[in-house]
Amino acid sequence: MITLKTPLSQLTRVGKTTAKQLKKLGLKTVQDLICHYPFRYDDYSKILTIAELKAKKSGTIRAKINLVANHRSPRKRMIITEAIVSDQTDSLKVIWFNQPYLARIFKSGQKIYLAGRIDYDDHYGLQLLNPSYEITDKIPIHTGRLVPVYPTTARLSQKQIRFLIRQALSLSQEIEDWLPRQIRNQYNLTGISFALEQIHFPQNAKWLNRAGHRLKFDELFLIQGRNHLIRQENKNLKARAIKFKLRQTKDFVKNLPFKLTTGQRKTAWEIIQDINKDSPMNRLLQGDVGSGKTIPAVIAILNTLLDHYQSTYLAPTEILAEQHFKTISNLLKNFPFTIGLLTRENILLRETKSDENMKIKKSEILKKIIQGKINLVIGTHALIQEKVKFKKLALAVVDEQHRFGVAQRAALVKQSSMANGQIAPHLLSMTATPIPRSVALTLYGDLDLSIIDEMPPGRKKIITKIVKPNEVENVYRFVKSEIEKKRQIFVICPLIDPSDKLGIKSVKEEYIKLSEKIFPDFKLGFLHGKLKSDRKEKIMKDFAQNKISILISTTVVEVGIDIPNASIMIIQGAERFGLAQLYQLRGRIGRNQHQSYCFLFLGSGNDYAADRENSATEETGRARQRLKALLTAENGLELAEKDLEMRGPGQIFGSKQSGFLTDLKIAKLSDTETIKQTQQAANQIFNQDPTLNKYPLLKNKINELIQITHLE
Ligand code: ADP
Ligand code: MG
Repeated sequence: MITLKTPLSQLTRVGKTTAKQLKKLGLKTVQDLICHYPFRYDDYSKILTIAELKAKKSGTIRAKINLVANHRSPRKRMIITEAIVSDQTDSLKVIWFNQPYLARIFKSGQKIYLAGRIDYDDHYGLQLLNPSYEITDKIPIHTGRLVPVYPTTARLSQKQIRFLIRQALSLSQEIEDWLPRQIRNQYNLTGISFALEQIHFPQNAKWLNRAGHRLKFDELFLIQGRNHLIRQENKNLKARAIKFKLRQTKDFVKNLPFKLTTGQRKTAWEIIQDINKDSPMNRLLQGDVGSGKTIPAVIAILNTLLDHYQSTYLAPTEILAEQHFKTISNLLKNFPFTIGLLTRENILLRETKSDENMKIKKSEILKKIIQGKINLVIGTHALIQEKVKFKKLALAVVDEQHRFGVAQRAALVKQSSMANGQIAPHLLSMTATPIPRSVALTLYGDLDLSIIDEMPPGRKKIITKIVKPNEVENVYRFVKSEIEKKRQIFVICPLIDPSDKLGIKSVKEEYIKLSEKIFPDFKLGFLHGKLKSDRKEKIMKDFAQNKISILISTTVVEVGIDIPNASIMIIQGAERFGLAQLYQLRGRIGRNQHQSYCFLFLGSGNDYAADRENSATEETGRARQRLKALLTAENGLELAEKDLEMRGPGQIFGSKQSGFLTDLKIAKLSDTETIKQTQQAANQIFNQDPTLNKYPLLKNKINELIQITHLE
């Protein structure tokens, strides 16, 4: 029997290849499919006569097939199916490309619906090109109505998706509505089954609207609910209250080679006050790339260690973990701490007062951590998966992954063997992704927010340019002149196709092109996530020491890597990156007194045109529009707000690629009215019943959301 949890591979007509395509869209179960909403609708709802269609150029007709046959196109080696159809008003030629089986499906005399666009060709005259079709004896789902158009892959047709969703929707009747009746009545919302049915196959525009409103409300309400529930649960947890050591903290700050910015001071103080309480901190520290977030985090770590507790610092990549191991040990060098580095590839130990790294076996470092002999463990998120056990973990700092939360906290609690099990570490997440206020309130209502809103003094603004094809030569010439001045260059390459998860192919191609054809006289290197760690380290070291002038890389350099002498960044296929990601990437340059430059190359017209579906020009135009925001925004927050305005429902600033902000499926963060309503509604429900015991369906649904959020 099919249920919402049934894997899609078990549905009729879903073979291995289709299942794979569905997975690319993030669709694994029937439930996922039901929640895969159309991104637009083609209005084929009115059935036209052929004469009307010829006048209107697009729409649906109901016609009889007079003749159908296949032949090969003269120039291209393509099979063309040609049909002549007619109704009482006129007749029309219809053309399909590369679907020879159609000639077998259609019989002359048969009645069909056809929906599509008429094209005029000098040679062939008026013809209906590649229309959707349906035999008339069924209720139409592809023609003759508001037809849903779904996000899809190149290999999965609209028709296939519609068919599958139609199948899955038969279950929507069984879904019990989780939204309390009281809320539904109060805000005039339709039932969930009706909404799902109508969002996919709307009867008319009015019902579609109602369905959309219900689903948007749903999405935002559940997020508010999640925030309430998480705050509730956190209230029940205990944490270690960490004493504030004023004198040592002052000494630490005084010994830094620079003066703290006001933002750093303010956020450090917010954090210190938080960890001084006996309930766990759940704080997000936000600040532009290079704004100096490490310092407030290290101040919190310092106080934790001075109070004889342990701390851990999680970085998103191995390279970064290693870099932080160096920076933080160095910052704490006047204190008697033992700091460990633990990544898959590299395990080191350092007593801060000496400045030597000791290699150590994994089993040994694990033992020392559980004995409490290591004060601070720096590593990747793998630390959590590895089930490292701490003796008395009191503070976890998580860099560049701000949706780190309840589930991970629970895992960390388990990893801490500190007495009576229920003592949670304080959590400090850090991100350079700027979060507009409305987003923070809606999506991150479970977190407290600290913001560093200024840069350390003396930074120059990075000059950013979108490079036109005829300017490429100039850019390369400029790069040469900069290398001659001993500057260094990043060249960032995108993924070519989603299956090439690491972008290795494009890095290699670009490396060959640049090293052989364009910069044969300079030293180049390349970097991607699949390289062995010692090789990565060697390349990073060579780059850091300016033995390599040009580093070609995937986005592994996206977060945090610090090479102050690099002053130029070229981003290939820039339209393939989210704004957040571009912003992060660009933050790798402009880190010292030199003027820095960022050149955005658009992918079309060169090697990266592999898998595009839309017409290249239209897409490039949109990309250009989006990228312009990057040129004009004064800071990250302004960029985020612009991005928010420009986008429709779905992805917001943090792109899927970088896995930052939670993606909304249907609501918009600019739906302020709905956001307000859902906040009110959630407050109302949670005030009545904080634990949601009266609303088990709702509670269940919210817990599902919490699970999903933390599996990402
Ligand atoms: P973020 O993590 O926010 O991107 P970092 O903490 O890595 O930024 O700091 C970026 C650089 O700025 C580092 O080289 C750091 O030493 C330096 N820095 C931090 N705070 C200051 C300050 N107040 N004045 C000058 N330089 C600073
Ligand atoms: Mg950082």
